[in-house]
This record gives sequence, C-alpha cells and structure tokens, in this order.
Amino acid sequence: MTFGVMFHHFHDAGIHRRGQGSLSADRLRALLGYLGLQYNILTPGDYVERALGGRLAPDDICLSFDDALLCQYDVAVPVLDEFGIKAFFFVYSSIFTDTPDNLELYRDFRNASFDGIDDFYRVFFDLLERQLPRAQQRYLDTYPADYLSDFGFYTDNDRRFRFVRDQVLTQSEYDGLMTDMMGRAGYPREERMTQLWMRAEHVSALDAAGHEIGLHSHSHPMQMRTLDRAAQETEYRLNRRMLSAICGQAPRTMSHPCGSYSDDTLDVLRDLDVVLGFRSNMSVTHGGSLWEIPREDHANLLQAIK
Ligand SMILES: [Zn+2]
Repeated sequence: MTFGVMFHHFHDAGIHRRGQGSLSADRLRALLGYLGLQYNILTPGDYVERALGGRLAPDDICLSFDDALLCQYDVAVPVLDEFGIKAFFFVYSSIFTDTPDNLELYRDFRNASFDGIDDFYRVFFDLLERQLPRAQQRYLDTYPADYLSDFGFYTDNDRRFRFVRDQVLTQSEYDGLMTDMMGRAGYPREERMTQLWMRAEHVSALDAAGHEIGLHSHSHPMQMRTLDRAAQETEYRLNRRMLSAICGQAPRTMSHPCGSYSDDTLDVLRDLDVVLGFRSNMSVTHGGSLWEIPREDHANLLQAIK
C-alpha cells in the first residue's frame, strides 16, 4: 500500500537536543538508503499527480515533515539535499505568532529538565495526584488497556501520559500543571521559543527549493474532530491565508494535526481546494479518500531495518 513517511524531530550536537524519537543526520541517511532500495520515493509534485490520477503504485511513497520544526531545516534538509529528495512540509501557522502551540515547548521541557522521560512522568503523575486528585481518580477508573496500541513504539508510561493529557484533563488543567512544573524547574521558555520553530524565511526557502508546503491548521488542536465545522474552517482558512502570504500561492495539500479529523474537516478541505491530505498512522479503519492517505511514522520503519 502506498503511504507517506512521517517525520518530526531531529537532533544534532548544537541547539537541537536529543529527545524521544528524534533522529540524527546519520540515522536519517541510513533510513533514506533503506527506503530508496525498498520503495519508489516520489517528489511531492509526482505524488500528487499520480494520486489524483489514481495511478499510485503500492511501492510509491513520499516523505513528509510536520510542524515546521527548525531542527528539520537544520538537520534533515541538508541530508535531503545530499540524496536529491524533495518532501512535503506541513506547517501550522501559530508558530509565526506570539502564541505557538504549547505542545512543542512541553516536549522540549521534558527533554531538557529531566533525567529521562520516566523521571518526567514520575514528577507529572505525582503533581497530578496532589493538585488534581479527582482527575487522577478518573484516569485510574477509565484508562483502556489498549489505548494507542497502534503506536507500537510507545511505552506503557507514554500511553498513560497521553491518555491523561488528551482524554482526562481539560486544556487549562493541563497547561496549569505544566506551567507549574516549568516554573519549578527554571525552564528558559522565551529563549527556546526562538530555537524550536522555523521562521517565515525558512518556509519560503523550502518552497523556493522545490519542497511542497502544506496546511496543518493554525493552532494545531490535539482533537480537530471535536471542533464544530465553523471552528475547523477558521483553523484551516487562517492557516491557508498565512501560508499563501509566505509562499505566494495557496497550499493544495495538508496533514491532519495529531491525525484527528471528521467529515466536517474533509468538507472544509474540499472548500479550500485542498486536493490531498495525510493521516498520521497506517490504520485502515478510515475512509480511504484522497484526504486520508496513510502515513508510517519513521520510528516504525527504523524498527523494520533492525
Ligand atoms: Zn503536527
């Protein structure tokens, strides 16, 4: 089955810290070498053209990078250049404002201020129990054993944390807990905000170099499908307007933030002349339309090499 490869984080010896699931330039080289042998890596333009014409072969794949992370520009793009590969970059636009998605800052904080991810989880669950005991009890009462079991590389703690964050706590409860933890740990929030995301000139340079810039919503909601149609339309319309201003033309492709979408989402995308969209997993339980192309996380592909 044809799919997109989904990338997020990369690390180097400089400002881009190693974190959960992050890749070095060398690991990316190894993965691209493997993929080049197994599959036919298409340019975004060819991938879109073949998808629209119903001519994608099972071994046709494309590469995609979500969230416009500066580490992608600094670490991955030079490797793509070595291989002569062009890719999709799906960009959410609140990164160009004073209030980017906290999710990325929280991830960076987890990597920077703790001795490993389980140390973070220990402090997080400890604080949850002390400050929000009712939410803690709700989590213990309702946690499904198979939560996120599609994502084989998540540990038990990873899945429990994501359940509490995404299903139990309200956004303000979660933000309150994280702000509290950041303050206690002395995390340099303002400085890191300038080091985590691309700026408009990076996105513009990628576009000029032949990569394809696509939509990824404005504020990167974790559960787009729970928003009503008007709110979803606002998300994608604003995203489209801001990326159009940077690239000089409206994006025609997208990926769903956190893989979340509803029939309303697909309707909005059609209205905005988006012709192709990508999910964030390989599950076949969804529709199979052109706005639901499956993607494989790079971590699963790396496991296949081992
Ligand atoms: Zn994303």
